[in-house]
Amino acid sequence: MKIIDAVKQQHAALTTFRRDIHAHPELAFDEHRTAKLVADRLEAAGIETHRGIGRTGVVGVIRAGSSQRAIGLRADMDALPIQERNTFPHHSKHPGRMHACGHDGHTTMLLGAAEHLAKHPDFDGTVVFIFQPAEEGDGGGREMVEDGLFERFPMDAVFGLHNWPGLPAGNIAVHDGPVMASADRFDIEVLGHGAHAAMPHLGVDPVIAASALVQALQTVVSRTLNPLDPAVLSVTQVHAGEAHNVIPDRARITGTVRAFSTEVQAQIEATMQRICQGIGTAYNVNVRFNFLRGYPATINTSAEAAQCAEVARALVGEAAVRTDLKPSMGAEDFAYFLHEKPGCYVWLGNGPGEGGCMLHNPNYDFNDQVIPVGVSYWVRLVEHLLAR
Ligand SMILES: [Zn+2]
Ligand SMILES: [Zn+2]
Repeated sequence: MKIIDAVKQQHAALTTFRRDIHAHPELAFDEHRTAKLVADRLEAAGIETHRGIGRTGVVGVIRAGSSQRAIGLRADMDALPIQERNTFPHHSKHPGRMHACGHDGHTTMLLGAAEHLAKHPDFDGTVVFIFQPAEEGDGGGREMVEDGLFERFPMDAVFGLHNWPGLPAGNIAVHDGPVMASADRFDIEVLGHGAHAAMPHLGVDPVIAASALVQALQTVVSRTLNPLDPAVLSVTQVHAGEAHNVIPDRARITGTVRAFSTEVQAQIEATMQRICQGIGTAYNVNVRFNFLRGYPATINTSAEAAQCAEVARALVGEAAVRTDLKPSMGAEDFAYFLHEKPGCYVWLGNGPGEGGCMLHNPNYDFNDQVIPVGVSYWVRLVEHLLAR
C-alpha cells in the first residue's frame, strides 16, 4: 500500500478523534456537537468554514492555484437510534444512540484529508469538503442541496465513500453505474366494515382483502418487471384487529420498494395502484394506496468511476480494487448529490462482518485500521482530478 507518510503519522490522533465521535453519537439534524468539532478543526487548520448548511451541515473550502476546476468530497455525520452492545471504552455514552454505520469514521477520514490538504495543497483548483447531516433516512443531503450547496459552492463533480463490512479491510470497490438502490415507502389502508366474527355476512372483512393484497403484491416484481431489472418489494407491516371475535373495520399494510431506475419505480407504483383497485373491487373494500418517494438510486457516472478506480489502484494496488461487486439494494442519500452533478461513491472495505460487525448492527464498529487508507484516497483523488 502506498499510504501517504504524513497521513500515517496522524493515524493515532485521528483514531482518538473517531472514537470520541463514536462515544457521542447524535441523530439526524441533531449533530450539533459533531458539527462543531468538525467546523472548529477546519477553522483551526485555516480552512474557510461554513456552518449551518442544510441545518447542521458543515462545508469547508480550500482553493489552490488559479484553475476554475472544483470538486466536492462528502462525509456523513449522523448516528442511528440503536442501543449499542459493544463494551469497549469508546462505546456510546448515549443510551439508544449509536454510530452503527461508520459515519464517525467517514467524518474523521474527510477531516483528516482536509487538514492534510490545507498543509500540502499540491493541486490546482477548489476542493469543497461536505459534512452532511441526517443520511440515515431524513435526507440531509437533499436538505443541503435545497439550501443552495451547489450554487454557493460551485463544483464540477462530487465524490462519496462508505465503509463496507465483508469487504477486506482497505480494499476499495468501485461501481460503474448503479451502486445503491432507490428506497420508496408504501402505506395501504384497507377499509371494510366491522362485524361480529360469528356473523361475517353482516360485515366486509378487511383482513381477507389485506391478505390477498399481500400475496398479489408479490407478483409485481416477479410477474410484471423485466427479470433483468433488479427490484425488491417487501411488505414489512400488517396491522388489523384487536379482538379474537371481532372482524375489524380496517387493515394497514406498509412496506418498501427498491429499484435502480425511475422507470422501474414508476412501473412498480402504477402496478401496485392497479392491484389495489382490483383487490378493492373483488373484495368490496375501499383501498387507499399511498406511495412515498424516498431516496433516489445512487448511480455513479462512468468517467468519474474510472478515475476513482485509477486512484484506488495506485493507492492500494490492483488486487485490492474490486470493480466486479454487485450493487446493494440499500439506499444512500448521496443520490441527491449525484442527481445534480457527475460523481462516484465508492465502498472502502471494513474487514470481516464477524461478531455482528455489520452495518446497523448493535455490535458494529468502524475499523480504525482503514483510516489512513480513506484519508490517502481522498488526498490522492484531489491531486489526480485537480492535477497541476
Ligand atoms: Zn446506515
Ligand atoms: Zn451509512
